[in-house]
Amino acid sequence: MQAAICRARWLLALSCLLGASGVQVSDVAKRLHADALVFDAHLHAVNRYFYLGGDMGRSVPDGQFDLPRARRGGVDAMFLSLYISEKYYAQRYETKQALRLIDFAIEQIRRNGGFVEQARNATDVERIAKSGKIAAVLDIEGGFDLDGDLRVLRDLYRLGVRVVQLPAHNWSNRFADSCCAEKKWHGLTEHGREVVREMNRLGIVINISHASDETMEQAIDVSSDPVVATHHGLRSVNDIPRNIRRNISVFRLPMTSGFRLTTGWRWWTGPLNWLGRTPSRWARTSTGALPYHAG
Ligand SMILES: [Zn+2]
Repeated sequence: MQAAICRARWLLALSCLLGASGVQVSDVAKRLHADALVFDAHLHAVNRYFYLGGDMGRSVPDGQFDLPRARRGGVDAMFLSLYISEKYYAQRYETKQALRLIDFAIEQIRRNGGFVEQARNATDVERIAKSGKIAAVLDIEGGFDLDGDLRVLRDLYRLGVRVVQLPAHNWSNRFADSCCAEKKWHGLTEHGREVVREMNRLGIVINISHASDETMEQAIDVSSDPVVATHHGLRSVNDIPRNIRRNISVFRLPMTSGFRLTTGWRWWTGPLNWLGRTPSRWARTSTGALPYHAG
Protein backbone atom coordinates (compact mmCIF):
# COMPACT_ATOMS: atom_id res chain seq x y z
CA MET A 1 0.00 0.00 0.00
CA GLN A 2 2.87 2.33 0.84
CA ALA A 3 4.26 2.16 -2.70
CA ALA A 4 0.83 2.86 -4.16
CA ILE A 5 0.48 5.90 -1.95
CA CYS A 6 3.88 7.18 -3.04
CA ARG A 7 3.01 6.74 -6.70
CA ALA A 8 -0.26 8.55 -6.17
CA ARG A 9 1.35 11.47 -4.33
CA TRP A 10 2.07 13.77 -7.22
CA LEU A 11 -1.14 12.94 -9.05
CA LEU A 12 -3.06 13.68 -5.90
CA ALA A 13 -1.17 16.92 -5.35
CA LEU A 14 -2.00 17.92 -8.88
CA SER A 15 -5.67 17.13 -8.41
CA CYS A 16 -5.74 19.25 -5.23
CA LEU A 17 -3.94 22.05 -7.02
CA LEU A 18 -6.39 22.04 -9.89
CA GLY A 19 -9.35 21.85 -7.53
CA ALA A 20 -8.08 24.79 -5.50
CA SER A 21 -7.53 26.94 -8.57
CA GLY A 22 -11.09 26.47 -9.80
CA VAL A 23 -10.24 24.11 -12.67
CA GLN A 24 -12.67 21.26 -13.05
CA VAL A 25 -11.39 18.04 -11.50
CA SER A 26 -11.77 14.94 -13.63
CA ASP A 27 -13.56 11.80 -12.46
CA VAL A 28 -10.22 9.97 -12.59
CA ALA A 29 -8.66 12.48 -10.19
CA LYS A 30 -11.69 12.31 -7.91
CA ARG A 31 -11.49 8.50 -7.87
CA LEU A 32 -7.77 8.64 -7.16
CA HIS A 33 -8.41 10.99 -4.26
CA ALA A 34 -11.15 8.75 -2.89
CA ASP A 35 -9.00 5.60 -3.19
CA ALA A 36 -5.81 7.09 -1.69
CA LEU A 37 -5.02 7.24 1.99
CA VAL A 38 -5.18 11.03 2.29
CA PHE A 39 -2.92 12.12 5.14
CA ASP A 40 -2.62 15.73 6.30
CA ALA A 41 0.84 15.76 7.86
CA HIS A 42 0.69 19.14 9.56
CA LEU A 43 -2.46 20.47 11.13
CA HIS A 44 -2.64 23.22 13.76
CA ALA A 45 -6.29 22.80 14.76
CA VAL A 46 -5.50 21.98 18.40
CA ASN A 47 -3.82 25.34 18.93
CA ARG A 48 -6.71 27.22 17.40
CA TYR A 49 -9.30 25.62 19.65
CA PHE A 50 -7.06 25.72 22.72
CA TYR A 51 -6.63 29.49 22.46
CA LEU A 52 -9.94 30.55 20.92
CA GLY A 53 -12.28 27.94 22.36
CA GLY A 54 -14.76 25.87 20.39
CA ASP A 55 -14.88 22.33 19.17
CA MET A 56 -13.23 20.65 16.18
CA GLY A 57 -16.43 18.75 15.48
CA ARG A 58 -18.46 21.89 14.71
CA SER A 59 -18.43 23.47 11.28
CA VAL A 60 -16.92 26.96 11.28
CA PRO A 61 -17.11 29.53 8.50
CA ASP A 62 -13.46 30.56 8.68
CA GLY A 63 -10.03 28.95 8.85
CA GLN A 64 -8.95 25.91 6.91
CA PHE A 65 -10.18 23.05 9.05
CA ASP A 66 -12.98 21.51 11.02
CA LEU A 67 -13.79 17.81 11.23
CA PRO A 68 -16.99 17.91 9.10
CA ARG A 69 -15.06 19.66 6.29
CA ALA A 70 -12.12 17.27 6.62
CA ARG A 71 -14.42 14.28 6.32
CA ARG A 72 -16.21 15.75 3.31
CA GLY A 73 -12.81 16.44 1.77
CA GLY A 74 -11.78 12.80 2.12
CA VAL A 75 -9.05 13.19 4.77
CA ASP A 76 -8.25 9.78 6.26
CA ALA A 77 -5.51 10.62 8.75
CA MET A 78 -3.66 13.56 10.22
CA PHE A 79 -0.67 14.49 12.31
CA LEU A 80 -2.44 16.62 14.91
CA SER A 81 0.23 19.17 15.69
CA LEU A 82 0.66 20.32 19.30
CA TYR A 83 2.62 23.50 18.76
CA ILE A 84 4.43 24.87 21.79
CA SER A 85 5.53 28.31 20.68
CA GLU A 86 8.76 30.08 21.57
CA LYS A 87 6.99 32.36 24.04
CA TYR A 88 6.89 29.46 26.54
CA TYR A 89 10.61 28.66 26.37
CA ALA A 90 12.21 31.55 28.23
CA GLN A 91 10.27 30.93 31.46
CA ARG A 92 10.58 27.16 30.98
CA TYR A 93 6.83 26.56 30.78
CA GLU A 94 7.14 24.43 27.67
CA THR A 95 6.72 21.01 29.30
CA LYS A 96 3.63 22.24 31.13
CA GLN A 97 2.23 23.63 27.89
CA ALA A 98 2.95 20.37 26.05
CA LEU A 99 1.01 18.45 28.72
CA ARG A 100 -1.90 20.90 28.54
CA LEU A 101 -2.09 20.58 24.74
CA ILE A 102 -1.94 16.78 24.92
CA ASP A 103 -4.82 16.79 27.42
CA PHE A 104 -6.80 19.20 25.25
CA ALA A 105 -6.23 17.15 22.08
CA ILE A 106 -7.25 13.88 23.74
CA GLU A 107 -10.40 15.55 25.09
CA GLN A 108 -11.27 16.94 21.62
CA ILE A 109 -10.77 13.49 20.09
CA ARG A 110 -12.94 11.88 22.80
CA ARG A 111 -15.74 14.44 22.29
CA ASN A 112 -15.75 13.83 18.56
CA GLY A 113 -15.54 10.04 18.55
CA GLY A 114 -17.96 9.87 15.63
CA PHE A 115 -15.42 11.62 13.40
CA VAL A 116 -11.99 10.84 14.75
CA GLU A 117 -9.94 8.37 16.77
CA GLN A 118 -6.43 8.56 18.20
CA ALA A 119 -3.91 6.35 16.36
CA ARG A 120 -0.81 4.99 18.07
CA ASN A 121 0.68 3.05 15.16
CA ALA A 122 0.27 2.44 11.43
CA THR A 123 -2.06 -0.49 12.00
CA ASP A 124 -4.36 1.87 13.93
CA VAL A 125 -4.21 4.40 11.07
CA GLU A 126 -5.33 1.82 8.52
CA ARG A 127 -8.03 0.37 10.78
CA ILE A 128 -9.47 3.78 11.70
CA ALA A 129 -9.41 5.03 8.10
CA LYS A 130 -11.18 1.88 6.93
CA SER A 131 -13.90 2.43 9.55
CA GLY A 132 -14.69 5.81 7.95
CA LYS A 133 -13.18 7.91 10.74
CA ILE A 134 -10.10 10.13 10.65
CA ALA A 135 -7.01 8.76 12.39
CA ALA A 136 -5.36 11.41 14.60
CA VAL A 137 -1.67 11.03 15.45
CA LEU A 138 -0.36 13.33 18.19
CA ASP A 139 2.63 15.33 16.94
CA ILE A 140 4.78 17.70 19.03
CA GLU A 141 6.09 20.80 17.26
CA GLY A 142 8.44 22.85 19.42
CA GLY A 143 10.55 20.13 21.06
CA PHE A 144 12.32 22.51 23.43
CA ASP A 145 10.25 20.87 26.13
CA LEU A 146 12.23 17.68 25.72
CA ASP A 147 15.50 19.29 26.67
CA GLY A 148 17.05 16.05 25.50
CA ASP A 149 15.47 14.33 28.50
CA LEU A 150 14.77 10.74 27.55
CA ARG A 151 12.47 10.25 30.56
CA VAL A 152 10.24 13.11 29.37
CA LEU A 153 10.35 11.62 25.86
CA ARG A 154 9.16 8.29 27.21
CA ASP A 155 6.37 10.02 29.16
CA LEU A 156 5.21 11.77 25.98
CA TYR A 157 5.19 8.38 24.25
CA ARG A 158 3.05 6.89 27.05
CA LEU A 159 0.57 9.72 26.56
CA GLY A 160 0.27 8.79 22.89
CA VAL A 161 2.68 11.20 21.15
CA ARG A 162 4.04 9.49 18.04
CA VAL A 163 5.74 12.30 16.08
CA VAL A 164 8.34 14.67 17.53
CA GLN A 165 10.19 17.49 15.81
CA LEU A 166 13.92 17.49 16.57
CA PRO A 167 14.68 21.22 16.95
CA ALA A 168 12.57 23.54 19.10
CA HIS A 169 10.64 25.05 16.20
CA ASN A 170 12.79 28.02 15.12
CA TRP A 171 15.06 27.79 18.16
CA SER A 172 18.04 25.48 18.58
CA ASN A 173 17.63 23.41 21.75
CA ARG A 174 20.29 21.60 23.77
CA PHE A 175 20.72 18.78 21.28
CA ALA A 176 19.71 19.92 17.77
CA ASP A 177 20.24 23.03 15.66
CA SER A 178 17.24 24.75 14.10
CA CYS A 179 17.07 26.19 10.60
CA CYS A 180 16.46 29.65 11.83
CA ALA A 181 18.61 30.37 14.87
CA GLU A 182 22.29 30.56 15.68
CA LYS A 183 23.88 27.17 15.00
CA LYS A 184 25.23 25.84 18.28
CA TRP A 185 26.13 22.24 17.55
CA HIS A 186 26.77 21.79 13.82
CA GLY A 187 23.69 19.58 13.73
CA LEU A 188 23.07 17.06 16.50
CA THR A 189 25.07 16.69 19.70
CA GLU A 190 26.07 13.19 20.81
CA HIS A 191 23.06 13.30 23.11
CA GLY A 192 20.90 14.37 20.14
CA ARG A 193 21.95 11.13 18.44
CA GLU A 194 20.82 9.25 21.56
CA VAL A 195 17.47 11.04 21.34
CA VAL A 196 17.10 9.84 17.74
CA ARG A 197 17.97 6.27 18.70
CA GLU A 198 15.49 6.33 21.61
CA MET A 199 12.76 7.64 19.29
CA ASN A 200 13.57 4.76 16.93
CA ARG A 201 13.37 2.26 19.80
CA LEU A 202 10.04 3.60 21.05
CA GLY A 203 8.45 3.99 17.62
CA ILE A 204 8.24 7.80 17.51
CA VAL A 205 8.47 9.34 14.03
CA ILE A 206 11.32 11.85 13.67
CA ASN A 207 10.23 15.11 12.07
CA ILE A 208 13.08 17.22 10.65
CA SER A 209 10.96 20.23 9.69
CA HIS A 210 12.54 23.43 11.08
CA ALA A 211 15.92 21.64 11.43
CA SER A 212 19.19 23.03 10.11
CA ASP A 213 20.74 21.35 7.08
CA GLU A 214 23.32 19.59 9.27
CA THR A 215 20.65 18.38 11.71
CA MET A 216 18.62 16.97 8.80
CA GLU A 217 21.60 15.15 7.28
CA GLN A 218 22.75 13.73 10.61
CA ALA A 219 19.26 12.63 11.66
CA ILE A 220 18.90 10.76 8.36
CA ASP A 221 22.31 9.13 8.96
CA VAL A 222 21.59 8.09 12.55
CA SER A 223 17.94 7.04 12.33
CA SER A 224 17.19 3.43 11.57
CA ASP A 225 13.61 4.36 10.59
CA PRO A 226 12.31 6.71 7.90
CA VAL A 227 12.63 10.39 8.77
CA VAL A 228 9.92 12.84 7.71
CA ALA A 229 9.77 16.53 6.86
CA THR A 230 6.12 17.34 7.35
CA HIS A 231 5.93 20.91 6.03
CA HIS A 232 8.47 22.46 3.74
CA GLY A 233 9.10 24.56 0.70
CA LEU A 234 12.06 24.08 -1.62
CA ARG A 235 15.12 26.25 -1.30
CA SER A 236 15.58 26.07 -5.04
CA VAL A 237 12.26 27.93 -5.35
CA ASN A 238 12.70 30.35 -2.45
CA ASP A 239 16.19 30.63 -0.97
CA ILE A 240 15.47 30.90 2.76
CA PRO A 241 16.96 28.68 5.51
CA ARG A 242 13.53 27.32 6.51
CA ASN A 243 13.19 25.66 3.10
CA ILE A 244 14.75 22.28 2.36
CA ARG A 245 17.79 21.77 0.12
CA ARG A 246 17.22 19.86 -3.08
CA ASN A 247 19.76 17.12 -2.38
CA ILE A 248 18.08 16.30 0.94
CA SER A 249 14.55 16.47 -0.43
CA VAL A 250 15.11 14.63 -3.69
CA PHE A 251 17.90 12.19 -2.80
CA ARG A 252 18.51 11.70 0.93
CA LEU A 253 14.94 11.50 2.29
CA PRO A 254 13.57 9.07 -0.34
CA MET A 255 16.56 6.78 0.30
CA THR A 256 15.24 6.28 3.85
CA SER A 257 11.64 5.81 2.61
CA GLY A 258 10.90 9.06 4.37
CA PHE A 259 8.97 11.87 2.77
CA ARG A 260 8.82 15.61 2.42
CA LEU A 261 5.52 17.41 2.12
CA THR A 262 5.13 20.73 0.40
CA THR A 263 3.19 23.74 1.48
CA GLY A 264 1.88 26.50 -0.73
CA TRP A 265 2.19 29.18 1.94
CA ARG A 266 3.51 32.38 0.35
CA TRP A 267 6.39 32.65 2.85
CA TRP A 268 7.81 29.34 1.59
CA THR A 269 7.08 29.64 -2.10
CA GLY A 270 8.14 33.27 -2.41
CA PRO A 271 7.47 34.62 -5.89
CA LEU A 272 6.04 31.29 -7.04
CA ASN A 273 2.83 31.32 -5.06
CA TRP A 274 1.09 28.92 -7.38
CA LEU A 275 -2.29 28.98 -5.74
CA GLY A 276 -2.46 32.72 -5.35
CA ARG A 277 -3.83 32.44 -1.84
CA THR A 278 -2.33 32.48 1.61
CA PRO A 279 -2.03 30.08 3.25
CA SER A 280 -2.99 26.88 1.49
CA ARG A 281 -1.47 23.46 1.68
CA TRP A 282 -1.92 21.04 -1.15
CA ALA A 283 0.28 17.99 -0.94
CA ARG A 284 -1.25 15.90 1.77
CA THR A 285 -0.56 12.26 1.19
CA SER A 286 1.80 10.31 3.35
CA THR A 287 3.52 6.97 3.60
CA GLY A 288 2.75 4.44 6.29
CA ALA A 289 5.89 5.65 8.05
CA LEU A 290 4.45 5.09 11.50
CA PRO A 291 6.16 2.01 12.86
CA TYR A 292 4.01 -1.08 13.29
CA HIS A 293 4.42 -1.15 17.07
CA ALA A 294 1.67 -2.23 19.39
CA GLY A 295 0.54 -0.07 22.32
ZN1 LIG B 1 6.25 24.51 11.52
